[in-house]
Amino acid sequence: MLGFLHKRGQKKCTQAPLSIILELSRNKERIGAACTMNFTMDLPGLKGVKVTKMEEREGFIALHVEMPRTPHRCPSCGERTERTHDYRIQKVQHLKLFERWVYLFYRKRRYACRCGKRFAEKACFVERYQRQTVEWNQAFRLRLIQGKNFTDTANQFQTSVTTAMRRFDQLAAPLVKKVDHLPPRIAIDDYKGDTNAGKYQVIIADADTRKPLDILPDRKADTLKRYLQEKGHHVKTVVMDLSYTFKSAVQKALGHPLIIGDPFHFCRYIYWALEGVRRRVQKAFHPYHRKRCKRIKHLFQKEREGLDDKQKKKVERYLELSPDLREAYELKEHFRQWYQEAKMQGREGRMSEVKQGLYAFYRRVEASPLKEFHRAIQTLKNWQTEILNSFAFGLNNGFIEGLNNQTKVIKRNAFGFRRYDRLRSRILLHHQFKHQTFGVG
Ligand SMILES: [Zn+2]
Repeated sequence: MLGFLHKRGQKKCTQAPLSIILELSRNKERIGAACTMNFTMDLPGLKGVKVTKMEEREGFIALHVEMPRTPHRCPSCGERTERTHDYRIQKVQHLKLFERWVYLFYRKRRYACRCGKRFAEKACFVERYQRQTVEWNQAFRLRLIQGKNFTDTANQFQTSVTTAMRRFDQLAAPLVKKVDHLPPRIAIDDYKGDTNAGKYQVIIADADTRKPLDILPDRKADTLKRYLQEKGHHVKTVVMDLSYTFKSAVQKALGHPLIIGDPFHFCRYIYWALEGVRRRVQKAFHPYHRKRCKRIKHLFQKEREGLDDKQKKKVERYLELSPDLREAYELKEHFRQWYQEAKMQGREGRMSEVKQGLYAFYRRVEASPLKEFHRAIQTLKNWQTEILNSFAFGLNNGFIEGLNNQTKVIKRNAFGFRRYDRLRSRILLHHQFKHQTFGVG
């Protein structure tokens, strides 16, 4: 008996691969009302499809559909035929309707030709050997790119996570835009990816269009150098943070392009110096004041004019406790004022004034006893050309910060990515398709 069943199962399988043969008359699970009908659907994705019956079953809606009989050209001899050979019922998953799963029970017709050839009819809503409709696939693909994570998307589309990941990989390979050569002005920055390729990855973006172009597996000088050697022939300008690794890689690969130091990154050295002084001096404070001083550290960083009276009083209380902290605070304010003026002067091409202002700041720091600031201006001096370039050319990496924030969200939603290539595709496709509202493919 078992042997018989087994044999029968095999036979079915070879006759109709992947199509599910259902004996509807034996189905006793049918519930709710079944309505027999006969109309042609004009729903998106089901255009020209004839619906013969619709019934609500336990947990899903069953739509019985078929295609109208039309002359088909025989794939073997080229003659036209309208003669039906037989029908097969194929169960095809469709998109949800009114929050219910929808399955099409597609009565698939096979035509017979005079030459003896039998072949299946053409149907626009489902591709050969597919168990889901074309519409389902398009929506699924977009969801794989835009959805929170693969588990979520798999649940929404009633499929497995493995399938979701496999389909994403297939989708990503041809869809992620390949970079042949980089544009003339690029921006580079690193972000924490925590993948199997390394803790940090490097993102390369177009400094003018602000679109991400590519992601490198790690932030080693050699990786960046080889990439730029291969694709950087047109690159004239590079915007980046103050990283010697990046700088040496860029110079080795591209000779001497214009390097622009990102303002956010070089300003940080001054804010770090202020933080360093605060931490040092508050050690001598009474524990009560130390705690309160730490609690308002963000107020020290803020611009003085931006503080309200209450906040100003708080800051003043701690500046009074330590001359070093007051000095550090004034140096930070001096730098901030220079930075604001320099931006304007740079726009107007008054670069010598920008430079003079920076020198004045150096002198003021050198006259102060604060080691933290001495170290900070040493860094600024090492990168002076790149810093001044940022005012002369008005370019910065601020938008990359925005891109990296979106990456953080993608990572968090997916509870992290182990595979570098998948995270890379996920990020690049996210930006390629973030404004797309309909399916992919
Ligand atoms: Zn034929």
